Amino acid sequence: MNPTGEILNPTQGAFFWVFVAVFVVGLLYFVNSIWGYYRLLKLAKPEDRFDRIGERIKRMLLFAFGQKRILSDASTGLMHAFIFWGFCVLAIRTISAFAEGFSAASMDWFINSTVGTVYLYTKDVFVILVTIMVVYAAVRRAFIRPKRVDPSLEAYLVLLLIFILMITDMSMDAATAVLGGKVAFTGRFLAGLVAGVSPHGLALVYDISWWIHVVTILVFLNLLPGSKHFHVITAIPNVFFQRLTPVGEIANVDNLEELFDTEDENIPVGISKITDFSWKQFMDLYTCTECGRCHEFCPTFLTDKPLSPKRVNDELKHFLYDHEKELLAGKGDALPTIIGSVLSEDEIWDCTTCGRCEEACPVFIENIPRIIDMRRKLVMVDANFPSELQQAFTGMERNGNPWNIGMSKRFEWAEGLGIPLMAEVENQDDIDVLFWVGCAGSFDDKGKKIAIAFAKIMQKAGVKFACLGEEEMCCGDHARRAGEEYLYQTLAQQNVEVLNGYKVKKIVTICPHGFNTMQHEYTEFGGAYQVIHHTEFIAELLKEGKITLNHEVTKKITYHDSCYLGRHNGIYDAPRDVLKSIEGVELKEASLNREKALCCGAGGGRMFMEEDRGTRINHKRLENIMETSTPEEICTACPFCMTMLSDAVNETGVENVTTRDLAEIVLEAMD
Ligand code: SF4
Ligand code: SF4
Repeated sequence: MNPTGEILNPTQGAFFWVFVAVFVVGLLYFVNSIWGYYRLLKLAKPEDRFDRIGERIKRMLLFAFGQKRILSDASTGLMHAFIFWGFCVLAIRTISAFAEGFSAASMDWFINSTVGTVYLYTKDVFVILVTIMVVYAAVRRAFIRPKRVDPSLEAYLVLLLIFILMITDMSMDAATAVLGGKVAFTGRFLAGLVAGVSPHGLALVYDISWWIHVVTILVFLNLLPGSKHFHVITAIPNVFFQRLTPVGEIANVDNLEELFDTEDENIPVGISKITDFSWKQFMDLYTCTECGRCHEFCPTFLTDKPLSPKRVNDELKHFLYDHEKELLAGKGDALPTIIGSVLSEDEIWDCTTCGRCEEACPVFIENIPRIIDMRRKLVMVDANFPSELQQAFTGMERNGNPWNIGMSKRFEWAEGLGIPLMAEVENQDDIDVLFWVGCAGSFDDKGKKIAIAFAKIMQKAGVKFACLGEEEMCCGDHARRAGEEYLYQTLAQQNVEVLNGYKVKKIVTICPHGFNTMQHEYTEFGGAYQVIHHTEFIAELLKEGKITLNHEVTKKITYHDSCYLGRHNGIYDAPRDVLKSIEGVELKEASLNREKALCCGAGGGRMFMEEDRGTRINHKRLENIMETSTPEEICTACPFCMTMLSDAVNETGVENVTTRDLAEIVLEAMD
């Protein structure tokens, strides 16, 4: 951006060699650091993230360059987005500044072009926006002190460096403007400040600003690797390599039996050491910005339990960085295991796999698969897990349900309802849909009420359906998410065998956990079905006019989003649409709803574990609902959420609120 070449030349004479030395040293130091982190990635376990390139590019454009997730954060979204976009726009200014160091007039061809003119104006807009946003960010950190962000000197230093870059950009433009060079509006506006300065003085202002600018860029660049601001470099690739499979889907462990037959005591199942991480999991650690969005509404963090997904990333990252040398020297296997030395077992068992952290993370860091992999190691290799889980595992193994209730009782809920079993149906083509009842619907008293209500709705609608009865086993969701992969696979294989034996194509279920696992995870075992959750099924029956809701239900109702229906499968509207179509229902939203809904505490096998750390998650959820929407009734769409929330109502003594499943409310509206 040097207009005269003669007057403004910050690297004249010996300064040229000073610049070359600073540039080369700064760049080499940076490349050397990056090279170390790249070598770490190469050492990590392989993982295929090079599929569906078109979709990856689309998501990168939307979430990295478009800042979609960041912008959904009302308090800081615009601030971060403008700083990011400013960085992208100012990248050309950076290249230009360095090019100028080698040859004063090297960028004149660009500046004097039409594109260059447009660029100068765009750059000025962003220089102003970034300056304002940087000041706002510093003030916010210093005085508002958001709870999710930890105090950090590094953050202030980075804000200061960005501020210096903006100020020096403006002072270079101001000097250029007075000397008759081409600038846009900021330079012309600020020219008044240096109008009386001699040409020599102006050249000095320009040269000093330029030197501060380029040195600041090199300092900034070398601060990034290994710091939380490494995300400036890794965020875009991390978004590109994000998981494209459904959030609710957990990857299979292949060849389990072979693995257990091996003589090697280091069975390659799950994660216990840092060397068990894949390159994408390392990249997640490089990329964590420590913004704290993940733990802001994490149910365990909100209830004072040891687990905070932000802290997990932080601690793993520091462990990785602290042991970079050993890892690069091939001595990673001698490092202590993560469980015990970096993370406590409590942290690993506290997670409900609700997915709130992943939904909130602007750089798509994957917490759940990592937690489940650590549980797999604890359960399958170390046989070390909360004792209460043993009961649930034994129940699933012996009787196909986590409560270990006799298998013969599975279909008792349907007594007198005239529901056929698949085994009794002569022609399978006569059946529209298989009703997968699930363990809670079959054995839990509240769950049974849901199963009965939904069966009655289907009967009234003339739906031809059948059940599996005793042939239905637990879907295995809780076993898998509690780390008992072997048990999960056994149950899944058994179920798929039965379902395929009846040539089942369409399944409806009242349980989001069964819905999620059968839809996304049974395909690995040869089970490909159209699985529908009962909330969508009821919405469809209504749309088709197969049921009519002609009775008023005069109540203020709050719908509680189940994690495995909402965040994991994107079903938010169907249950709300059904409630809205019931006359008399006043639908009230809790402050934490839809994608941001707070978990009830039952997922990830937590339903079958004691909650003896911190306060209770179901109480916290109830508190949020009661304080922000004051309903007369809470509507659930998951039998596990139902148990958790009705228990919370009873335990806390909250008055004047009831809990019912959507099917029960719909049935009342039909009678
Ligand atoms: S994991 Fe994601 S949301 Fe959590 S602190 Fe890191 S970047 Fe922020
Ligand atoms: S999945 Fe839910 S409980 Fe687990 S760390 Fe993330 S937000 Fe917390």
